[in-house]
Amino acid sequence: MKRIGLRDQRNAEAFGEENAERLLDGRVAVVGSGSLGQLVMGSLAGLGVRGMYSVDDAVVLGNELEPLVLEKEKNASKVEVIGRSVRKINEDAELKISCGRFQEWQIRSYSPQVVVDASNDPMKKLRCFDYCVDYRVPFISGSTDRYKGRMVVFRPFSRLVDPGLRSRMIRSGFFFKNELTLDAYVGKEQSGVPSGVVAGLIVDQVKRVLLNEERGDIFEEINYNLYSRKRFGRNDSIVNCFSDYSKYTAVVVGAGALGNFVGMQLALLGWGKVLIYDDDRIEAHNRNRQMMFHSGNEGEMKSRVLSERMRAINANVAVEGYEKRFVLGDGFSGADLVFSCVDTARTRYEISKQALQDEVPVVDGGTTARNGRISIFVPGETSCLNCQNNFKEMADRREKAEQKRLREGGCLYAERSVVVPNIIIGSAMVGEGLKIVYSGKQKGILEGNFFYESTRKDRPFYLGPRIKLGTEECICLD
Ligand SMILES: [Zn+2]
Repeated sequence: MKRIGLRDQRNAEAFGEENAERLLDGRVAVVGSGSLGQLVMGSLAGLGVRGMYSVDDAVVLGNELEPLVLEKEKNASKVEVIGRSVRKINEDAELKISCGRFQEWQIRSYSPQVVVDASNDPMKKLRCFDYCVDYRVPFISGSTDRYKGRMVVFRPFSRLVDPGLRSRMIRSGFFFKNELTLDAYVGKEQSGVPSGVVAGLIVDQVKRVLLNEERGDIFEEINYNLYSRKRFGRNDSIVNCFSDYSKYTAVVVGAGALGNFVGMQLALLGWGKVLIYDDDRIEAHNRNRQMMFHSGNEGEMKSRVLSERMRAINANVAVEGYEKRFVLGDGFSGADLVFSCVDTARTRYEISKQALQDEVPVVDGGTTARNGRISIFVPGETSCLNCQNNFKEMADRREKAEQKRLREGGCLYAERSVVVPNIIIGSAMVGEGLKIVYSGKQKGILEGNFFYESTRKDRPFYLGPRIKLGTEECICLD
């Protein structure tokens, strides 16, 4: 029996059929029902992981702005509401949900392949830690607050550590326990942007475990921090970037994989007005990474469904979905910020030119199955996006190659994208947007490109070459 359906086709193309089946059979425990836990579960469902166990005693308050709390029924069990959203993302998900206080035996009876604690609660993290040490199961601990987040991976089976030393280290557990409980996040509210980035990191890590690709040291830490100049420092160096977003207007070009997460994040932040351009309809194979599109939405317009979902997250956001492709001449005047979430170099070039004309800043994102990139344009502060990335040249070259392929009877190349780089880059794009619209001192806009490369040993983010500052040399408008 063929087990990979249309929905998971892109996962199979990106990782191979056998690996996609391993993902289907995955069993993951997720502790914590805040924004981070919700985005971990939603992304796992997108990746095709069916077996999930979730436990929490929280109830819906009715006024929360959280990604998978789409039914705001007061006092309903939160894990059940989240579970219903997860089943809309992946109708084949096999969820085991416990509404109640987390106990170690519950995890034990589920026997997961990996445990994720996405709460900001050190007591829960300690119980997960104890279970993972006893059963030699990898433990991924994550926490977030308003502007930063951290993922810590603990591999009790790591072969890189001398066995005698390892058992002594684990038995004493002192160092690891302190590092894994993430005490700095106790009592903090988990907000969307850092939760999206950290959820992506966590799910990439879970994927490695399920595909037996998990290598590395016994203990590993990765940070995302909007108050750090390079965005992945543990310590803060920039003071602020928050303001009242209800006064801003954003244009989102493209409602696909990146547009889904950009739209979700803008709704969570309570952005004033959002205009979405997309002329495409939802297809089954989009749904492995486009979490805002649910079972049954196939065939509907992407811009319309994304707008609807954003209103369900936050009824105060004014969203307008245009069922058309953005073209040069549509104009960005009146917008404070543009998010470029498109998949062709030609449209990127047109967005770049329009933004240069209208003097509107742009956050541009691009992803493949394992990697992602963000570039920013701020009028008067950075060179234009075309000067940074040569989109015009790239578009000319690619279109020539595509015409050749079509002449020779081939078909157009479709990028095999999956959820992980898209939730990381889409969320971080909105993070960069916050930096750009913040008008105070020390806003610290990105001074280079932001990258995610899943296959690099030192993984997630590094800064590419510094953006050419100043616009004197730019002739892109001539
Ligand atoms: Zn230029």
